[in-house]
Amino acid sequence: MTSEHTLGDEALLNLLTTNDTNVIDELHSTARKVTDRWHGRIVKTRGLIEISNYCHNNCYYCGIRAGNANVQRYRLTHDEIMQCSLAGATLGFNTFVLQGGEDLQHSTEWVERVVADIRSAHPTAAITLSLGERTKDDYKRWYDAGANRYLLRHETANPKHYAKLHPKQMSWQRRIDCLHALKDIGYETGTGIMVGSPFQTINDIILDLRLMERFRPEMIGIGPYVSHHDTPFADKPNGSVELTLRLISILRLMHPQANIPATTSLGTLATDGRLLGVEAGANVVMPNLSPLNVRKAYSLYDGKICTDLEAAESRRLLAQQFAEKGYELD
Ligand code: SAH
Repeated sequence: MTSEHTLGDEALLNLLTTNDTNVIDELHSTARKVTDRWHGRIVKTRGLIEISNYCHNNCYYCGIRAGNANVQRYRLTHDEIMQCSLAGATLGFNTFVLQGGEDLQHSTEWVERVVADIRSAHPTAAITLSLGERTKDDYKRWYDAGANRYLLRHETANPKHYAKLHPKQMSWQRRIDCLHALKDIGYETGTGIMVGSPFQTINDIILDLRLMERFRPEMIGIGPYVSHHDTPFADKPNGSVELTLRLISILRLMHPQANIPATTSLGTLATDGRLLGVEAGANVVMPNLSPLNVRKAYSLYDGKICTDLEAAESRRLLAQQFAEKGYELD
């Protein structure tokens, strides 16, 4: 322990690299105890609506990058999004996450109207946006229309690493500026990384932990990198489930109150991945509410789970899986 940090760099390095299973087990069980204390045995659910897979960016890791000509592009209409949120509310969801590629057709006004209409249809719901980098003015207008939260992973705290994951038109500084703009406006802000993204080093991960320690995000999204066959990184190995679980535990200890999801990519690389995530200290899951006919087209990476299950069915299966270990879906 140092006065500046919850854990010194050396302690972090040790936790991230040790092979001592006792240490790892203790890390997970301590993180779970902290989660129990702050969040109970409740796993919160967020209904994910993937509103468009058009994207003008070309992130080297992402399956819906502009340069992938093999994607069948879709864009949900205003009415389809309203129907998804209504169906979600009927199933008991009280948070809607609208995620998409950076779709140039999504004007400020169009998103503003969607947010305002969800807000009036579901006055008590939380509305989370995850639509990438926009101007501060856009973020403010959407906030004023009723959005409360924004997810924008910083992807890496190391600008040099950022430049290996993204084409040169994309800027690490711009992404960080967006995160600060979101926080200034008053959004609950979520950041995070892909664990095992190509060229990531353990030192980069320590920088990520420090960045998050300073930024104090309300939400932290971390999942393993999973390769997609139609990207420049097609032959890069997937990230490690084990390291992801360790990071979930470390982040839980550093941010006891944060909402940390057990992500779909974790569930993609291990059958019971999301449950393992919860056992390591995650307290959120994000079942998919997107219409079934577009789910496969929103493929950020290969093998994504839950592309063919109705939201109700996947919620029921998750609830059952969690109940066996004593967790309850909210
Ligand atoms: N356009 C939005 C949403 C991006 S998708 C934005 O820029 O924020 C949400 C997250 O999925 C990304 O931030 C990235 O961390 C993750 N992701 C993308 N490709 C992935 C892959 N191949 N494996 C694992 N996660 C991936």
